[in-house]
Amino acid sequence: MRFNLLLTLLCLPLSIIASEPQASKAAAIRADYPLISLNSHSFVVHASTQTPNPENQGFMNNVGIILTQAGVVVVDPGGTIQAGEWVLERIKEKTQAPVVAVFNTHIHGDHWLANHAIKNAYPDAKIYAHPNMIAEAAIEGAVWVKDMLRWTEGASAGTQALVPDSPVNHGDEIRVGEKTFRIHHYAPAHTKTDIMVEVVEDSSVFLGDNVFNQRMTRMDDGNFAGNIAAIDQVLALKLKHYIPGHGPSGGIEVAERFQAYLKAVYDGVKTHYEAGLSDFEIKDKIYSSLSEWQAWPGFERQLGKHISLSYLEIEAADF
Ligand SMILES: [Zn+2]
Repeated sequence: MRFNLLLTLLCLPLSIIASEPQASKAAAIRADYPLISLNSHSFVVHASTQTPNPENQGFMNNVGIILTQAGVVVVDPGGTIQAGEWVLERIKEKTQAPVVAVFNTHIHGDHWLANHAIKNAYPDAKIYAHPNMIAEAAIEGAVWVKDMLRWTEGASAGTQALVPDSPVNHGDEIRVGEKTFRIHHYAPAHTKTDIMVEVVEDSSVFLGDNVFNQRMTRMDDGNFAGNIAAIDQVLALKLKHYIPGHGPSGGIEVAERFQAYLKAVYDGVKTHYEAGLSDFEIKDKIYSSLSEWQAWPGFERQLGKHISLSYLEIEAADF
């Protein structure tokens, strides 16, 4: 009997055995992030401003929670099932109403892998995203699940990527109870998949990763000129609350400050490109003009890449 069992185990494909430890769910989120009130019925959670790691357990994006008369709406529930469950617990402290809608701002999994927790608890909740995001979500989601597990050293175990089921396009208005969620899509910006969600009655806009605050963006999937132009569109709205994808929320100055960084890099690179410099020669030339952002986590790591990407964009536009 024992020998047969051993033989059976030896014959199992390696992938099944290797995936066994991931099947059990990792522990709940330990951190106690406050719910910041935008008004009496709308809240933002500012999770860690670090990249995913074992300490923050992969919970490092901003989450929007809007209580309506028809149920709860969540913007970007988080990057793990644990983050999503944490969000649901906070919601239960405010209301017993179900989550009826979720918006995923873009393809990066730190914003949407927590769909898993929402769908577990509320199978009827609609999960909205741009069609470009939905098209990429199955493949990119699987990559993000693996990356998140590695970065957090297993703290995201049990998370599955649940693809959004409800496409939304630029100009769409989703009505939930007494609230109107107006969709803004300008591409390419941070990615090709971004939506920004304006809550009309709240004079607020959830910007996704088109805007960062107090933490430096990754632009590997982005476009500098496009991101600058997308921010112009939401600046023109002149709203009360601007909620970035990462870092503290605030007024219009949050979007202005981040756009100023993108412009400082892009315009600086353009000036030196036109003077005939190569991308590796430009960093020293523009570094001192970026003092306002140098303390942001990720600045030193990203600046070289940001210059290279701007340079490629400017070069491409020149032909
Ligand atoms: Zn992102």
